[in-house]
This record gives sequence, structure tokens and C-alpha cells, in this order.
Amino acid sequence: MSQSLPGTSVAGVTRYGLFIGNQQIAPVDGEYLDVVNPATGKVWAQVPNASVKDVDMAVESARSAFEEGDWLGYRAADRAKFLIRFGEAIADNAEEIAQLQVNENGKLIREMVGQAKLMPEYFNYYAGLAQMPTGSTNPLHVKQMLNYTVREPLGVVAAITPWNSPLLLLVWKLGPALAAGNTVIAKPSEVTPVSAIRFAELAAEAGLPPGVFNVVTGLGSPSGSALTGHPGVDKIAFTGSTATGQAIASQAGKTLKRVSLELGGKSPNIVFSDADLTSAINGLVAGIFGASGQTCMAGSRILVQDTMYDQVVEEFVRRAEAIKVGDPQNPASEMGTVACRPQFEKVLSYIDIAKSDGARLVAGGTRAEVDGFPDGLFVRPTVFADVTNDMRIAQEEVFGPIASLIRFHDEDEAVRIANETQFGLAAGIWTGNVQRAHRVASRLRAGTVWINNYRKTSYATPFGGYKQSGLGRENGADALREYTEEKSVWVDTGQGVKDPFNPRA
Ligand code: NAD
Repeated sequence: MSQSLPGTSVAGVTRYGLFIGNQQIAPVDGEYLDVVNPATGKVWAQVPNASVKDVDMAVESARSAFEEGDWLGYRAADRAKFLIRFGEAIADNAEEIAQLQVNENGKLIREMVGQAKLMPEYFNYYAGLAQMPTGSTNPLHVKQMLNYTVREPLGVVAAITPWNSPLLLLVWKLGPALAAGNTVIAKPSEVTPVSAIRFAELAAEAGLPPGVFNVVTGLGSPSGSALTGHPGVDKIAFTGSTATGQAIASQAGKTLKRVSLELGGKSPNIVFSDADLTSAINGLVAGIFGASGQTCMAGSRILVQDTMYDQVVEEFVRRAEAIKVGDPQNPASEMGTVACRPQFEKVLSYIDIAKSDGARLVAGGTRAEVDGFPDGLFVRPTVFADVTNDMRIAQEEVFGPIASLIRFHDEDEAVRIANETQFGLAAGIWTGNVQRAHRVASRLRAGTVWINNYRKTSYATPFGGYKQSGLGRENGADALREYTEEKSVWVDTGQGVKDPFNPRA
């Protein structure tokens, strides 16, 4: 192992290490990345840009923990007890880990605290599932044979995550991965790496044996791709953009790793003229302006029936313009920043693209000026009306606070427009007609459909995408299957094996 962590804090910038074998260590090549607070524009931390050698070390640590460490001796009940203890440690430190994430990605403190308080529930759920029976006994066509199945952990899981909900999306992977007995290497986004290191420290303090949960920080390449190509990694659990998911799937294919992918979206939020308008408008606002639009499930295409289109545009614009964009640390703020400068520039560039494609700008459309934060990456809630579904703003994921309002005439047209996309992550339906609600839900090609609500997720129900929004599902009981292999065991309960060439002998 390399020399111990610098652990120094110079002029308000704290240097962190890789978290391997339950301790922070310095990267072999000594290369670090700056972590910038998107509200202030100031560097506040540095983390290693893990090289292939660092990743090798993390994989070695995770593999030996899986094959020969104390973790191997953990019964399901022991893993469950650990998950509950880890949840308690998170609850005790919820404010701190929320604060770290706000410093990293500029999301609202109240949303980050809310997420932190929910995390123990995820671990409680998987603690319960860890102890449920998982195999089956199978009646066979042959006599005097017993056949049963067992589900076993895959081995070393690499969890590669984005910056929008850094820890919650890690929890979605850690819960089932650890419940099933795997060991984990997390590779958080280079934008939000510090919270993951602190998270792993909490796991160690809660009693997790060394090597079971490691963190390597760094860029997609070299750090992420070193994991994806590593023969010692058994599974990649990825959340991020569709383009990166495609690259990971093809690289992981070379060693036939298991892969689960939670990718991008361009989700339709469909308002029929028989909807409760107050509730629908609230759902539209939350769907696209929550988290500054930086959620994979953002309701970025708002489809409105023509008979009420003008009324919805007017009311939605009024609400968008009333949103308080401000300091993410202030509990009164309603929208924080965009997470990093490249994303900020991408969001602003899509405003130009939408305008030049002929969409009508009816709210926002520029950066937002916030007193005391001259360098903050704030964007005004932006609304385009008269968008058609072939425009780039309707087809490409922006991942920012830009809503596109699209008009439709009837149910068939709404379904056609909703499904005319490469994505299939989520969709919303607003209607007072129960038959229509279920009829349309069944016709939408999306992994999640919300009827008269939007942007709800839970540990108890699967989440994932149709089409190019992903592969596999997270959350829910079946998520454990994504972290296990199934083994079929045959037992002779009869008279022994006969000579295959002379069975009468
Ligand atoms: P991204 O794809 O750029 O990066 C995600 C992670 O992958 C980061 O840790 C990054 O360092 C790593 N990475 C990049 N290139 C890699 C490579 N070649 N090999 C291995 N790892 C690599 O995504 P982002 O910009 O951080 O996040 C935004 C995207 O995430 C959006 O497209 C959004 O829709 C998606 N997202 C999806 C969900 C979901 O559940 N479906 C949830 C949140 C975010």
C-alpha cells in the first residue's frame, strides 16, 4: 500500500484519500482533482484521480475480503444487523452528509437532509430481505433425485454513480449488494466524491470488515474505465448518462461482467383536460424544477390536451417565475444551482438550441442572478411553449430546469408522442378518468408510470428503464437477484450411479 493519507487542510481545502481496506490512502501517482462548490465557485476539497494501479489495489482489497476475510463468515443475519447499524450511523450523521452533498452539487439542503433520513429505511428493507429464503426445490422428471437452488453473491461489485443524488443512488446499490454478501467498490462522480468517502468511513465505524466497501475517486477515465475493464470485478452497477452506459456495457462485455444500467430520460408528463388542474400543475412544477431538473426522471416533456393548453401554459409560467432560486443552504430556497460548470453550459446551450429550432420561450431562459453568489451556477426556471416532439429540446436529455410544453389533441396522439423517444424511464398521467388512467398507463413504454402524482420512488418498488433508459431494475425485492448468481444442486437419493454403457450391470 502507498503512504498514508496526507489528510491535510490548507487554506480551507481539505485533501481526501482513496478509501481502501477501511482507511484513507494517498493515490500511487499522487494526482488529485479539485472539488468545486457550484454556489460559490470555490474549491473546497481535493480527491485522488485514481490510476489503474490504485484501482488494482481496491479490487485486490475487495476480492480478498470476498474470498477470505471476516465478511465470508457473516451469516445473513449478521449482514442484516450490519445494515441496520449502518442505517443508524447515517441517521446520526444525516446533517453532515447532507451538507457535504450540498457543497458538492448545490442541491437544496432540505432535499439532501430528506434523502439522508430516508437511507436507513432502504437498509432496513434489505436487512429484512437478506434473511428471506431465496432458493427453491424443484420436482424433476427423474426418480430418486433431489434438486434445489441457492442464490450466491456475485463477488466484487463496482458501483459507478452520477452527481445528482450522490449517496441515495449509491444506497440503491449498496443495500442489495451487501445484503447478498458481495463486496463493493464505489466510484462516485468526480463532481461529488467527498460524500462517498465519508459514507464509507461511517460504514467502517458501524463495524464493516476492511475491504468490503471501498471508494475510488477520479475521472470516468482512468478511474471508472479501469473498473469496467478489470477482470477482478464481477458486476458493474451503473447510474449515469445513456452515452456512458453504452460505453460501459460494451467494455464490460469483453469480460462478460454482469451489468445493470440506470440511464437517462425524457419523460412525458401528460395532462388530460379532465385532470384536477391544481394538483396537475403542482406535479408539473415538481417534476421538472425539483432538483433544478437534474433528475433522471424529470418530467421534461409536458404534454397538454389542446382544450386547456393555453390555460396550463399561463398558470405553469406564473408558477415557474415565482420559484425562489437561491443559496442551496438556505431552507427557504426552492431551487439551488446546476451541479458543475460543464452542465451549466450545457443547460444554457439547450436554451439557444430550442430557440433556434422554433420553440417559444415563455419563462426564464438565462442564468439567475443571486445576491452574494456572483459565481454561482444558477439558472432561471425556463419554459418553452409550442414545442414539437421532433425538436432537439424534446428528444435530448438536458438534465436542467427546462420544461417543454407540447400540445396534443386526443389520447392516441398523447400516447404516440409520449412513446416517440429513445428513452423509457418514467411518465406521468393527470386525469380524473380512472379507465383512461389505467388504459394509458398500459400503453406507455416506461419503467415507472405515476398516475396523478410524479417523482415518487421507494425501496419497495422497482425502478429502471425501458429502451435506452437502462437495463435491469433497482429497488424492490427482485433487486437482490441482480446481485446474485443462481446455482442448481443435484443430489442422488437413490442407489448410486449406474455404468453408463451397461446400465443393467
Ligand atoms: P455520466 O454518465 O457522465 O457519469 C456517471 C459516472 O460514470 C461518473 O462517476 C463518471 O465518472 C463515470 N464514467 C464516465 N465515463 C466512464 C467510463 N468510460 N467508464 C466508467 N465510468 C465512467 O453521468 P453524470 O453526468 O454524472 O450524471 C447525469 C446522468 O445520469 C444523466 O444522464 C441522468 O439521466 C443519469 N441519471 C440516471 C438515473 C437513473 O436512475 N436512471 C439517476 C440519476 C441520474
